[in-house]
Amino acid sequence: MSKKKGKGSLIVLSGPSGVGKGTICKELKKQRKHLWLSVSMTTRKPRPNEQDGVDYYFISKEEFEEKIKNHELLEYAQVHNHDYYGTPKEKIARHINDGDDVILEIDIEGALQVKENHPEALFIFIMPPSMEELINRLIQRGTESKEKIVKRFRKAYQEINEVTKYNYVVINDQLDKAVYKVNAILTAERSRVDRMEDILLNTKAEAMHELLVEKDLINEPFQL
Ligand code: ADP
Ligand code: 5GP
Repeated sequence: MSKKKGKGSLIVLSGPSGVGKGTICKELKKQRKHLWLSVSMTTRKPRPNEQDGVDYYFISKEEFEEKIKNHELLEYAQVHNHDYYGTPKEKIARHINDGDDVILEIDIEGALQVKENHPEALFIFIMPPSMEELINRLIQRGTESKEKIVKRFRKAYQEINEVTKYNYVVINDQLDKAVYKVNAILTAERSRVDRMEDILLNTKAEAMHELLVEKDLINEPFQL
């Protein structure tokens, strides 16, 4: 009897800008074999350390609007500064069917769109240990202008109030502890009874009979 890996889960990870979502995902990727991080599309300009196709697919507003029109996005939103951000549908279903957990690192507006179409998805919110620590991280990252930091920080207050729409909340105080917790949530999700489809199918009477024949324990034909 072949042992199947089973399907992966769709996981939505949100939290205010600068809380450490990207950092947590990179660590998780090192620790979990069957994990695929979806690469979003955006119309915002790349930061100096960002690579096209790795951090995001950086595309023009016209290209993005074409993708909306052609229904190529699982969800999309206009986030800070009216830049578009969206999740390409392509590849997601394939990875899930192949047994990979798929993480979408997206904002709350996008998360709610995913919830509507995929209520089975798992929603995790990453929370900062304090608002002061959040602003410190935004400043220390050094990737945004003062004006953009202020916009992101102000938005954080609204975002944190949406936490009740998620299934789990993880405070990113010490990085290793936060990664440990998200890891534990993903592992627990893999053990849910409603995901045990394959093994339950194999407990059908006929399959059990076949197994006994295969092991040479009986040889009579199957009867109901
Ligand atoms: P996000 O993806 O949520 O916008 P990042 O992953 O870019 O956030 O993290 C923002 C900054 O905070 C980065 O400089 C990162 O190194 C730092 N950081 C992430 N997690 C922690 C942590 N637990 N403690 C201290 N600094 C952190
Ligand atoms: P940043 O510009 O810092 O990379 O991301 C800004 C915000 O956009 C973050 O809150 C991030 O979660 C969100 N974001 C990134 N990709 C997507 C996406 O594909 N869809 C949506 N809705 N939000 C996204």
